[in-house]
Formats: sequence, C-alpha cells, structure tokens
Amino acid sequence: MQIAKHAVVSLHYTLKDDAGVVLDTSDGGEPLTYIHGQGNLISGLEAELDGKRKGAALEVSVAPKDAYGELDPKLVHKVPKRQFDGQVAVGQRFHAGPNVVTVTQVLGDMVTVDGNHPLAGKRLHFKVEVLEVRAATADELAHGHVHGPGGHHHH
Ligand code: ZN
Repeated sequence: MQIAKHAVVSLHYTLKDDAGVVLDTSDGGEPLTYIHGQGNLISGLEAELDGKRKGAALEVSVAPKDAYGELDPKLVHKVPKRQFDGQVAVGQRFHAGPNVVTVTQVLGDMVTVDGNHPLAGKRLHFKVEVLEVRAATADELAHGHVHGPGGHHHH
C-alpha cells in the first residue's frame, strides 16, 4: 500500500545538516515506526513521504519553516551566572518551565541561554528508506501510537 493518512510506516533515516554532518540516524539501530498524517514527523518530511511505497528511497531537503522553525531571537536570554547552581558550561541543557534551554555562551558573570529547538533555523537533509507500510489498527488509531515491534508495548 501507499503511504497515506493513518498508515503505519517503518523507515530508516539519516539526517544531515548543510555541512554534511550527521545529526541523527537510525542506521545500526531500530527503524523509526510512526503513524502517518498525525504530525509525528516534521511536516516537510511527511509531505514527501506521502504516496510512497515499501522500498522507496528518497533524499529530502527541508527548509526551516517546514522543520523546526526559524530561530526566534526572543528565545535567547542573558541571565546572571549566580542564578545557576554550581558549574555552568556551554552545551548544558536545562528545563525552564515547559521548555528546554541550551547554554550557548558563558562570558564573565553572564550566561546566554537559548530556548530555540537545537535544529531551529537549520535546513535539514534526510536520506530515507521505506521498509514497511501497513494500515494502522483501530487500537493504534485510538491510542495515537504504534503497537508491536518498533512501537509501544503495553503491559
Ligand atoms: Zn497503545
């Protein structure tokens, strides 16, 4: 069957940035299994997978607006170092309410934290291989997630 809304899709993927650096990959691990058409993947990738079948191999470049959005300068803040407990280092991530912020600079007594998604503002390059396409079961649609191999296991 073709990939369409409510299809369960298993795929292997490799994600690279503009410089060709691998940001994420399922190679050597479990494939990614998801229910299509529910916003489980970024919109630019779901759109390209639509209508594809088992065995399809594709390379997709997705603009920031169809991935994790543009960088929002309003989400970047400078805060005094004394607000942190202990050591603060670039690359550390903290929960700030519902958001996750990343420390991007430590300069003197000030720390810069960035609440943008780490992939915001980036054009993403996916290489994807479709391994399996099947219809979702009624249970899976009711739960909103995949059951069985690669998916959710209920106990
Ligand atoms: Zn379930």
